[in-house]
Amino acid sequence: MSSSVREASAALEAIAREIRSCTRCPLHEGRTHAVPGEGPPDAPLLFVGEGPGAEEDQQGRPFVGAAGRLLDRLLASIRVPREKVFITNTVRCRPPGNREPRPDEVAACLPYLVRQMSVLQPRVVCLLGATATRALLGSDQKLNQVHGRAVREAGRWWFATYHPAAALRSASVANALQEDFRRLRRLVDVEWGTEVPDRWKPGALQKIFADGEATEPVVVSEADSLRVTWDVGAVHPTFRTESALVELLCRFLRRQRKAQAEVVSLQTTDAHSRRVPPESPVCVHLYAEVRLGPQL
Ligand code: SF4
Repeated sequence: MSSSVREASAALEAIAREIRSCTRCPLHEGRTHAVPGEGPPDAPLLFVGEGPGAEEDQQGRPFVGAAGRLLDRLLASIRVPREKVFITNTVRCRPPGNREPRPDEVAACLPYLVRQMSVLQPRVVCLLGATATRALLGSDQKLNQVHGRAVREAGRWWFATYHPAAALRSASVANALQEDFRRLRRLVDVEWGTEVPDRWKPGALQKIFADGEATEPVVVSEADSLRVTWDVGAVHPTFRTESALVELLCRFLRRQRKAQAEVVSLQTTDAHSRRVPPESPVCVHLYAEVRLGPQL
């Protein structure tokens, strides 16, 4: 174990000790055990659920009940070992009767997650359920609109999907969750495969596109900044958000130009040049102005 991993491990254990004795919100009154979360200190993938259930409260470990067993199966289905990821919750003490945590309880507990994330520095954060999605992506986010799509913010990927407990109650949610996990795998493959501009891994490029037919951005003019077009009609729905397209565009340009790239303006349109959001199935073109920064 390297010294930085040892330090991260010690920092996470210190946060866990604070959580186990925390009385910041009323949820501590009914708990058997607080559940700080678990996983390796250098886990690049972080899962955030809602809060401990009965079995988690008894054992002090996250996702060990029926929902946890489903999460284990979902992870196995995308070939991600549970021991390689960090798993935690939005609140660390069980809400009575498994009710949804209240906003004041979420607000009281969130600083622990922020601190754990600053130690872990996860590259991908998967938000399981509406509570985690609202807490981390913003209170106006509706899970049925944002699930299954990658969002790039604060230098990392965010990916919201349903909570496994909801999938145990509904076959249609279970199907959507399974499909979202396939998309999560796609996101992980793209993140891992395109991180080094000179050495994109074979297959990573195809994962950006729905049918494997890659269309790369094209620079149409260069002055102080680059003007770029990109036929994004074939980009997989996983990446059809403005922030994800911006990030991927910058990765293409870093690879082509060997320089940092920053998108100054961006527009997405349909086949008739009408502006449409990137999430729209009729969105086929992207136009951007990009400023190149220092050489890599
Ligand atoms: S839910 Fe979080 S903030 Fe509330 S008592 Fe438990 S650890 Fe503390």
